[in-house]
Amino acid sequence: MSRYFTEKYASLTPYTPGEQPKDMQYVKLNTNESPFPPSPGVEKAVMEQCGRLQLYSDPESTALRTKLAEIYGVKPSQVIAVNGSDEVLNFAFMAFADEIAFPDITYGFYPVFAQLNGIPYEQIPLKADFSIDPDDYVNLNKTIVIANPNAPTGLCLSLGQIEKIVRSNPDHVVIIDEAYVDFGGESAVQLVSKYDNLLVTMTFSKSRSMAGARLGFGIGSEDLIADLNTIRYSTNPYNVNRMTEFAGCAALVENDYYMANCRVIMENREWTTGQLQALGFDVLPSMANFVFAKTERIDGGKLYVELKKRGILVRHFTKERIKDYNRITIGTMEQMQALIGAIKDILEEQTL
Ligand code: PMP
Repeated sequence: MSRYFTEKYASLTPYTPGEQPKDMQYVKLNTNESPFPPSPGVEKAVMEQCGRLQLYSDPESTALRTKLAEIYGVKPSQVIAVNGSDEVLNFAFMAFADEIAFPDITYGFYPVFAQLNGIPYEQIPLKADFSIDPDDYVNLNKTIVIANPNAPTGLCLSLGQIEKIVRSNPDHVVIIDEAYVDFGGESAVQLVSKYDNLLVTMTFSKSRSMAGARLGFGIGSEDLIADLNTIRYSTNPYNVNRMTEFAGCAALVENDYYMANCRVIMENREWTTGQLQALGFDVLPSMANFVFAKTERIDGGKLYVELKKRGILVRHFTKERIKDYNRITIGTMEQMQALIGAIKDILEEQTL
C-alpha cells in the first residue's frame, strides 16, 4: 500500500477473481464461463462496430434495453444495462443499502461491495444442508441480496419463497442476483410489476457466452431503475461500450441458440453429478452451470492441486465451512469426461 492510499479504503479486502493462468492450456472449469462461443451474429456485430469506435456508445443502451424488455415482458424504462452484473450490484448497494444482509456462503463480492461503500452487513448462516432458510429473511428490515441459484452451492429458492421475502420487507430493496437462473431456476422477473422493492440482476456472462464482453442488466420498477441511473450517470454514463451493446443485441436475436446451449449444460450437469456420486462424492443438487462437490476420499484442496497438475482447473475456496468442496463449472461432454477420468486416476493413486 502506498502512503497515499486513503484511510477510508486501507482495510478493504478486494474480491479475488478465479485464476486465469497463462502457463498452459487448461480445461477451464473454474470461473463458470460458457464452453460455447457466441453466436455468429455477435462476431459480425462486433466487427461492424470496430469501424465506429471513434463514437461514444449510446449512454441509454436503448436498442439493447428495448430488446431485453421485449424478452422479459417489461418496459424499457424498467431495464438498466451495465458493464457486467457486478456493476449493477455495486450500484444497488450504493443506491439502496444503509445496512445489508446476505448468506454466509454466497457470492464473494457482496462483502466487498458492502465494505467499499461503508455499509454494515449481516451474514446469515445457511442451514446445515447449505440451503437458505427463507424465514431468516422475512421481516428483516434491511436491504437484502440473495443469489438465486446461490453460488457456490447451486441451490435455488422457489419463486414462492422469494416472493415471501420481498413481500415482507416492503421498506427495503430485495436484490435477487440471477446470474445463473437460465440453467433451471425460476426467474423472479415476473414479480417486478407486483413489488416496487424488487430488483433482479442478470448477466450475459454465463448462459449467453459473453463473459469477456462485460454485459449485465437489472430489471425492477421504473423508480428503482431511475435511482440506479442516477448512480450510473454519476460514475460512468458510457458504461456499456459500443461493441458490447451491439453484441448483446445480436445475441438476443439468436436467443434460441443460447437457450439450447443451456439445455446441453443441464444434461452434462446431470451426467457429471451421477459420475461424481458413483465415485463417492456428495454433490449438491445444482440448478446452475456448476456443481459443488466433496468426498471423504480426498481433501478438497488436494483434489484441486492434483487436477491442476493434470491440466484441469476447478475452484477451491479456503473458507472453513466449504474447504472440503470444489466448485466445478459444467462444460462440454468432452471436458466433463476429461474431468471424471482425471478424478478416477487421482483417487486410484491415493489408494496405492
Ligand atoms: N453474481 C454471481 C453470483 C456470480 O457468480 C457472478 C460471476 N462472478 C456475478 C454475479 C457477476 O458476473 P458478471 O459481472 O460477469 O455479470
